Amino acid sequence: MAHNVILARMGEVTLKGLNRGKFEAQLITNLRYRLRHFGKLSITQSQSRIWIEAKEDENPAFAGEEASKEILTAVTQVFGIVSASLALKFEGDFEVIIKESLSFVEKLLAEHPNYKTFKVEAKRGDKSFPLNSPAICMEVGGQILDHFPALSVDVHNPDFILNVEVRDYNYLYSGKVMGHRGLPVGTAGKGMLLLSGGIDSPVAGYMMASRGMQIDAVYFHSFPYTSEQAKQKVIDLAKIVSRYSGKMNLYIVNFTQIQLDMVKNSPQDMITITMRRVMLQIAEELAKKANCKALITGESLGQVASQTLEAINITNEVVDMPVFRPLIGLDKEATCDLSRKIGAFETSILPYEDCCTVFVAKHPKTHPKHKDIEEAESKLDIKAMVEQGVNTGLEIIEI
Ligand code: ATP
Ligand code: MG
Repeated sequence: MAHNVILARMGEVTLKGLNRGKFEAQLITNLRYRLRHFGKLSITQSQSRIWIEAKEDENPAFAGEEASKEILTAVTQVFGIVSASLALKFEGDFEVIIKESLSFVEKLLAEHPNYKTFKVEAKRGDKSFPLNSPAICMEVGGQILDHFPALSVDVHNPDFILNVEVRDYNYLYSGKVMGHRGLPVGTAGKGMLLLSGGIDSPVAGYMMASRGMQIDAVYFHSFPYTSEQAKQKVIDLAKIVSRYSGKMNLYIVNFTQIQLDMVKNSPQDMITITMRRVMLQIAEELAKKANCKALITGESLGQVASQTLEAINITNEVVDMPVFRPLIGLDKEATCDLSRKIGAFETSILPYEDCCTVFVAKHPKTHPKHKDIEEAESKLDIKAMVEQGVNTGLEIIEI
């Protein structure tokens, strides 16, 4: 009996030298975690490929084709996977391969009536198989031509390729879904993402996770100036990022009193910078407790007043941890494209205020100097504010 199996291909992981085994093991662990809702699956690795299969007798609910397509999508969202294909797996001799190939093509043509040209690619892992790869291509191709007179062969630019592989079993597949590439999450330590409800920070988290970094997130909430809906939006964005980055803790800092104090006691045009400096310090304290070794923000050079070089430098100097800003050289459109690609855009553009838009100055200083910040913070007890942010009203949500 033929059944569905997913063939996933590894990318950069396979370039690793002595550490390769560790990276591969992490990738398999992450696949198991990402696919945990699909019941019992067999996940096996051979060279640079991973085979994923729901066995009919063990897991009938997910052995069907529709479910396999869902699993396929989830597989491509795991960092470290370059591409994946849905394949048909079966036993039998060459006669069976021909028969299965013809019904495979028939089904493919029913789904894609516009297909006119094709090519067969074959791989023979089982060297005892009587035909070599070119002979398999010739034979299968010839049979397809005989049975589907509207099709012709085009080896350079075919509408579809039929892949035939003969190894422990026989496999047929056509086409592949591209994955998100990168390195398996968990191979590059943990970072604390400053996650707002905007477009940029979820993308920043996604990008660092794509380099193998596990992510926790912190959101500064100023209820009632920022609403319950604004908070829910951040939770939803954290869920979207965690589709790619795996398990995450979301820290929700009660920021209201801190912001009110700032508004009262520091000059209007410096509030944005002062606020960002405090945010970073609170984030760093939480990061240390959560064993994170870096902070991550969605800043992009020059995008807004608080993201000029001077503003970034003056914000940066309050923390010792490195602050990763993966979007620093991207323009807004490039970030929006990424946001759409990861499925965050629709949520990010929901019109709920974030704390920066509520308290932001109309004309923030774009080129703050040290004397400006000293003056601005002279009437503030920064240390107490940081302590308050870390300890008072902190909520932790497991995503
Ligand atoms: P985003 O689209 O991510 O909100 P932005 O373009 O609106 O970014 P800013 O509001 O200046 O830019 O924020 C810059 C970065 O600071 C954000 O990308 C995010 O990492 C962090 N940040 C801003 N506000 C918050 C908040 N309320 N909670 C947590 N992090 C925040
Ligand atoms: Mg924002």
